[in-house]
Amino acid sequence: MPTVYIKTYGCQMNERDSEAVAAQLAAKGYGLAPSEALADVILLNTCSVRDMAEQKAIGKMQSIAAEVRRERPNVVLGFMGCMAQSRGRQLIDQLPDVDLVLGTQKFHRAADYLDDILAGRREKVVDVGGETGSEAAIKEHILEGMRGLNGQIRARSATAFVSIMQGCNQYCTFCIVPYTRGQERSRTIGDIVAECRQLAEAGVKEITLLGQIVTSYARRELKPKDGKSGFVQLLEAVHAIEGLERIRFTSPHPKGYGDDLVDAYDRLPKLCESAHLPVQSGSDRMLQLMHRGYTLERYIGIVDKLRKVKPRMGVTTDIIVGFPGETEEDFEQTLSLAREVQFDNAFIFKYSPRKDTPAAVMPGQLPRQIREERNARLLEVINEIGARRYASRVGEKVQVLVEGPSKRNPARQMGRSRCNKIVVFEDSQDQRGRLMDVHIQRAGSFTLYGPLS
Ligand code: SAM
Repeated sequence: MPTVYIKTYGCQMNERDSEAVAAQLAAKGYGLAPSEALADVILLNTCSVRDMAEQKAIGKMQSIAAEVRRERPNVVLGFMGCMAQSRGRQLIDQLPDVDLVLGTQKFHRAADYLDDILAGRREKVVDVGGETGSEAAIKEHILEGMRGLNGQIRARSATAFVSIMQGCNQYCTFCIVPYTRGQERSRTIGDIVAECRQLAEAGVKEITLLGQIVTSYARRELKPKDGKSGFVQLLEAVHAIEGLERIRFTSPHPKGYGDDLVDAYDRLPKLCESAHLPVQSGSDRMLQLMHRGYTLERYIGIVDKLRKVKPRMGVTTDIIVGFPGETEEDFEQTLSLAREVQFDNAFIFKYSPRKDTPAAVMPGQLPRQIREERNARLLEVINEIGARRYASRVGEKVQVLVEGPSKRNPARQMGRSRCNKIVVFEDSQDQRGRLMDVHIQRAGSFTLYGPLS
């Protein structure tokens, strides 16, 4: 049977989609190749959130077409995911070596289309249509003993991602996601719980529930019950699964942080005390132009409530610098927000104009130099706060779920604390999947170190 190599760009949702496609292909008999040089099919799972991600994938495909195709003319080349969705057939016009363009609602069709192309029944396939029910098609996992995306046999995994919904209805003015992922579509609680239970039975201890805006989960389908949103109802159902030790989710939207969700951190011991809460800007004026749907006061209020319930709550965020019209004053408000909230870490994005989004044609587009300069200034503040917050953990005992040997030094084990900080400790034995207490003695760059306690 042919072998496939999948390279992934972008977010955890993309990682998860690639894993599911790989598992689906493996179930149909395809092999998973450790590199593109050894593959009969090369698929790039793409990201459209910023132009840089798109250019990277296009550049990669150009070099594959020039190098791999020249030596092995029968290799099948494909784009899938967000850029495939937004550019469709254009990709084949631009890169005629590409055989397959698979949109975000069509991942589960990969095997059928590849079978057709490999058997010569079809020359090129472009499918970027909508498909009812496709949100429930991302459910296969690569489990212990199966070959993974890198072609290696998978060891037991302590953690797993589970996709609970697809799409986004928020329409932030900077964001391409509603156009690439479509409208919000949620899986049923029963379906999600069945997948999580299967993972727990396979030894997975921590599950991260994934969606573009997870807090909007089943907003239209599930009525609030005893004041609890559909998302909190889902958390309760997953919490009841035996063998599962920890639950996380990403990304929430601040406007979805009702008291029912804050309260869930108090009531559900498996729900880890960490929140990735994208703020995007520290200026109310920018938040309004971005169509974020909250004010700074509301955002800070949510963080305060979370830290009241769980004082050790790890809070991380996404921030965009250089949004159209952002003045020096707006940017300084972002710096002061970072200082006020004391984020544990933040992903900083230089604003990138995206096709068909309202912000791309807003007045006040800023030159690259200003975006870069603000990025560097904010990064310095975030790093300084992060270093202080990590250092404040020295002397504490933290519970770590061990994920396996550290990549840098296999004589050490690596895991995460409940508040989502990477912890490394000396132990040559593979302690994967175990919950262990570590006495923190040192803080490095966004990592904590210490012996087992
Ligand atoms: N669910 C998240 C939210 O609440 O906004 C969005 C996830 S998005 C894939 C990840 C991050 O990319 C966003 O939070 C935002 O900071 C950044 N991003 C999105 N569009 C962008 C753009 N046009 N330019 C720069 N950064 C962008």
